[in-house]
Amino acid sequence: MSEYKICSRCVMDSSDPQISFNSKGHCNHCTDYLSVLQNQNNDQQNSKIQLEALLAEIRKDTSSKYNCLVGVSGGVDSTYLAYLAKEKFGLRPLALHLDNGWNSKLAVKNISKLIRKLGIDLHTHVINWDEFRELQLAYLRASVLDIEVPTDHAIRAAMYRTAKDNGIEYILRGYNRHTEGIIPKAWTFYKLDLNNLLDIQSKYGKGTLDTYPMMGTNEMKKIEREYGLKTIAPLNYMGFDEESVKTLITEKLGWTPYGGKHHESVFTRFYQGYILPKKFGIDKRRAHFSNAICQNIMTRTEALDFLDSPTYDIDTQNLDREYVIKKFEITEDEFKAIMGQPVRSHFDFKTELKSKIRKKYLDPRNPLVRFVKRKANFK
Ligand SMILES: [Zn+2]
Repeated sequence: MSEYKICSRCVMDSSDPQISFNSKGHCNHCTDYLSVLQNQNNDQQNSKIQLEALLAEIRKDTSSKYNCLVGVSGGVDSTYLAYLAKEKFGLRPLALHLDNGWNSKLAVKNISKLIRKLGIDLHTHVINWDEFRELQLAYLRASVLDIEVPTDHAIRAAMYRTAKDNGIEYILRGYNRHTEGIIPKAWTFYKLDLNNLLDIQSKYGKGTLDTYPMMGTNEMKKIEREYGLKTIAPLNYMGFDEESVKTLITEKLGWTPYGGKHHESVFTRFYQGYILPKKFGIDKRRAHFSNAICQNIMTRTEALDFLDSPTYDIDTQNLDREYVIKKFEITEDEFKAIMGQPVRSHFDFKTELKSKIRKKYLDPRNPLVRFVKRKANFK
């Protein structure tokens, strides 16, 4: 075990095994992120022009009913993006929601309000719950880190398929480097790795995946090539102040806030607030708070105080734990066994990542890694 170390400027620490520190004790995460923010400030005018050019390109498509596809989860980023697309960018978006069975009631309410107020069409893709449960359980039993892959992979695949079926050329992505700028590579896995998913499923899942939306990298590239499908992340071109965005969507769309980031899904809340910290020693708030520190909206002392308190309300954690066990149809003992199992690497299973890329993938400072990372961060 190497010695515990924490950054002297943000709150990232050695729970990221790949973290590195300079002579001032500043870590690679805040160092990189601050330079991104700096470039962004210097480049605001340019970003505005680039975004305008992209939007003009999308508006050119007047032939089909929709000219872009927006994924909606009920969360802040995707709600704001849908609002911008319709009200500010003057686009004709189709909204897509993936229902994996874990939506909080509030998320469902937020989405239906959003759709009504904006007057846009919504396509909801409901995943077959039995298949999905087995897939998620396979990930849990395999003891690998990124149990969100089944959801994130399906979102990406469903987006591509829906865009293709509706003749839509542009996918607008809610990814936002302002609030998600710091995410250590070692805390997630490559979401598009279909080989990895299928291998985990075949070794630890029951039944087959007959309707679950999945798509290999080659099929995605083929759709991009043949249909000219492009993905853009407009929020990356703009300033983003989370508090004022929340106020705006609350006022304009009747949006109701959740307790924490990504708490629109009960599973995500439980995964990030319970499974990740207890089993993998990862507290994702560290990354969110470090972002906030770099943006001067939180002090390091405040962040450290927050980190000392529970990831979220303990009573809700206990209720979620009970709910998750029941919904997975497993026993208390099996859940305990899953939590106590030694952690395994995703690389213990088949992977699409070629050995050369794979080696670089593990070094967070390599430019190639960032390329893979950008793709992997799709939400
Ligand atoms: Zn740092």
